[in-house]
Amino acid sequence: MKCRCRWKIHIALTFSQSSKPLIRHLPRQVQRLKQLQRWQKRWRPSVRPLWVAGRSIALCSVVLTSLFWGARQLGGLEFLELAMFDWYRRLQPDAALDSRMLLVLITEDDLHRYRWPLPDQVLAESLAKLQRYQPRVIGLDLYRDIPTPPGTAALHRQFQADNLIAITEIIGDIPPPPHVPDTQVGFNDLTLDTDGVLRRSLLFVAAPERDYYSFALRLTLAYFQPDDLQFRYTPDALFLGEMPLFPLDSTSGGYQIADTRGYQILLDYRTRNHSARTITLRQLLEDEVNPEWVQDKVVLIGTAAASLKDSIYTPYSADDQTLQMSGVMIHAQITRHLLAIAAGEPRSWQFWSDWQELLWLWGWTLLGGILAWRSPHPLALGGATLLGLILIGSIGWGLLSIGMVWIPIAEPMLAFIIALGLALSYRLLYTTHYDALTGLPNRRAFSHALQQFFQRQSWLRCAETLGVMLLDLDHFQMINESLGQSAGDELLIRVTQRLLTQLPRSAQLARLSNDEFAVALQCAEPETLTTLAEHLQQTLAEPFWFNTQSVTITLSIGIAMTQRGHQYTSDTLLRDAQTAMYRAKVAGTDQYKVFSTGMLTEVVDRFTLENDLRQGIADQQFILYYQPIVALETEKIVGFEALTRWQHPQQGLMSPSRFIPLAEETGLIIPLGEWICQESCHQVHQWQHQFPELSLMLSINLSGRQFDKPDFHQQLARIIQAEHIDGSMLKFEITESMIMGDVEAAIDSMLKLKSSGCKLGLDDFGTGYSSLSQLRRFPVDTIKVDQSFVQKMRESHEDHEIVRMIISLGHILGMDLIAEGVENQVDVEVLRSLGCEYGQGYFWSRPLPAAQATELLQQQYFCALRDTS
Ligand code: C2E
Ligand code: CA
Ligand code: CA
Repeated sequence: MKCRCRWKIHIALTFSQSSKPLIRHLPRQVQRLKQLQRWQKRWRPSVRPLWVAGRSIALCSVVLTSLFWGARQLGGLEFLELAMFDWYRRLQPDAALDSRMLLVLITEDDLHRYRWPLPDQVLAESLAKLQRYQPRVIGLDLYRDIPTPPGTAALHRQFQADNLIAITEIIGDIPPPPHVPDTQVGFNDLTLDTDGVLRRSLLFVAAPERDYYSFALRLTLAYFQPDDLQFRYTPDALFLGEMPLFPLDSTSGGYQIADTRGYQILLDYRTRNHSARTITLRQLLEDEVNPEWVQDKVVLIGTAAASLKDSIYTPYSADDQTLQMSGVMIHAQITRHLLAIAAGEPRSWQFWSDWQELLWLWGWTLLGGILAWRSPHPLALGGATLLGLILIGSIGWGLLSIGMVWIPIAEPMLAFIIALGLALSYRLLYTTHYDALTGLPNRRAFSHALQQFFQRQSWLRCAETLGVMLLDLDHFQMINESLGQSAGDELLIRVTQRLLTQLPRSAQLARLSNDEFAVALQCAEPETLTTLAEHLQQTLAEPFWFNTQSVTITLSIGIAMTQRGHQYTSDTLLRDAQTAMYRAKVAGTDQYKVFSTGMLTEVVDRFTLENDLRQGIADQQFILYYQPIVALETEKIVGFEALTRWQHPQQGLMSPSRFIPLAEETGLIIPLGEWICQESCHQVHQWQHQFPELSLMLSINLSGRQFDKPDFHQQLARIIQAEHIDGSMLKFEITESMIMGDVEAAIDSMLKLKSSGCKLGLDDFGTGYSSLSQLRRFPVDTIKVDQSFVQKMRESHEDHEIVRMIISLGHILGMDLIAEGVENQVDVEVLRSLGCEYGQGYFWSRPLPAAQATELLQQQYFCALRDTS
């Protein structure tokens, strides 16, 4: 019973070491925390960067938008917008001809036939012919202020018709033809854009002395009866009946600094050529006209002869410079536009307000920035950029062609690309200083901040102290492996957030590597840092939830502080904290350690020893000692345990407890262990040869790493074969800790080892956590009772009972027992009385070099020979 208690206590103790009491020094801690919260903002190396990225992108987009807005005020990008508009226009298919109109064109041929300027008589005859067919309106797009006899009187008679609309030019000061009343005169003036292209039409000018109507407006108003279409205007719009025509302003759509005085609207070109049926003057005069073409129509008469150079660039001209429209064709386009609107067709252009356009621009710069920031891959970024541009283009196209809404396109496209480029360069710069996952400063930035602190100290000649804590998440790798990489990432982000909420404002948090964080805090005493460390450990002890699964994280913390009078660099301070953190890790999970100089010496020693060990293995500086194992009944040597020694060139013969743990940690135990096996087998071979009658057994210690190595048994089999020995002469000693994790895998490895005929022993039995139920399943031949029990068994009844229990347990399970650390005759007697088969200890012999061990065997061998003879 007692024995079981002892094991329980052992386990309980190990647990209480690892899980620290949660509420410790509470009042003191609260006080300190309050102090931390009140901490003066003396040193803040950099701002919390989680927000920096978002803020910078937002700021950058605002600045960029303002720049673009500024450029827009100067008209810098108007040419691009206009080009874009023209391109979209050209993509639109031509509409059918307008049946409400007829164009009478004076062609090159007509000029030759009737001379130019047209004699009044020819024109009078043309008008008379038209009037015969009862057109609703005749629009004369010809200047006739100067008489061109003969036939002037006849022409003047024609001018008196009430359905005739004539032209005048305000800017060129060309008067209308005589006898035409003012209400039938419209101006012919056109407003070209800065690139010479006609995209808008000036419809109306309200001047103090009188109002001016454009030629097309007059034609439209004349086409409808005054009862059907009333015209009025307000400062905001013209009204064709109930249809409002909102005039352009200088920034409508893609315009940026257009001169939009008067009432101007954007022209709605419907065809790249003629808007309506056309006939030539000759056709009219020679009666090749179907009266239906004229009756009730708007008939426009004007020149289309190229030699008269009355032609204008339109959005279609960019494809083909020769594709220009004559004045009469332009008037036909405008008239067609106005007729459509007056008839109630929704063909008025619309524009966004400045605010909407500003938002549209800003939205794209912001999106460009975010895309560049968030894109996981250059290809994804390329795709997103392309998609963004296509989207801007399509929205622009859709609005323009379906809704007749013209919005800036080139401007947001450019802004989007520039924002993307800027954010990308910023991101590149950012990632060199910040951790992409958590947004915290990375090692480089953190070191830099520390370095700045030290520099400042030396400039100001002050000696303020700075503390650094390294926080390492315990067993984070395990979480990554069990929950997956993305859950691991998520956990890191949540840990970061939790840490940030708990740290005082003056502290700087950074992520140095995968699961390693660092905190820098200017403070006067180490207690501030230890309190903070405890607080952070407690904070993280609260579980993190992943759906229904809870994950608890513990922290190992290393603390280092600068000391007055010492010179520090960021590297030395970080190294100190790292050393302390390493110590905390060794002490178990959820521990913190404060750096002391002694630690550094140890680290240096360890480092030197590791290098020496490497060299030692290469130079074969190791020797095997052999300690006899004796049968308690006969006190005869039945075997040896091979124990390794290191003949260190400077430090002399070194005990395995100094270098075996290091060799295990660094993995050097693998090459060393191979040598040990080889050397042991070689020795067995020699003894077999020398003492063929003795059936000796050599025990070899195995480390966990060797035991776990999948091909170890194959390697062993090769050695046994090379040395020509019997595998049953070898016994491998393993410890409980090596087999208690994954029991099935351990049994598998054990069986593989035994396949060469070797035996297995359980070393240091009683110090681990063997589960009795599992013990039965292991194919173990021998149990070695740990020397700590054997040596105390004389004084302590409890230990005596433990030894007794272990021996009976071994026997029940069919194993034989070796008691380790037997140092005197009394122990031998007690062990013998308890039924233990074998013993090993200084009582018989210390571990000996091979020669001396052989000598011992020889003595025993000759005694045996003598006895038998
Ligand atoms: P272990 O396997 O338990 O080896 C027994 C240790 O007890 C040896 O220490 C031995 O010298 C010591 N010992 C034997 N009898 C007595 C005694 O009566 N009184 C006292 N106080 N001690 C006694 P050693 O040689 O220093 O080895 C220490 C440990 O190093 C070993 O413990 C074993 O775990 C490890 N080790 C030694 N050689 C090797 C090796 O070749 N491979 C591996 N993996 N580990 C080894
Ligand atoms: Ca051993
Ligand atoms: Ca042992």
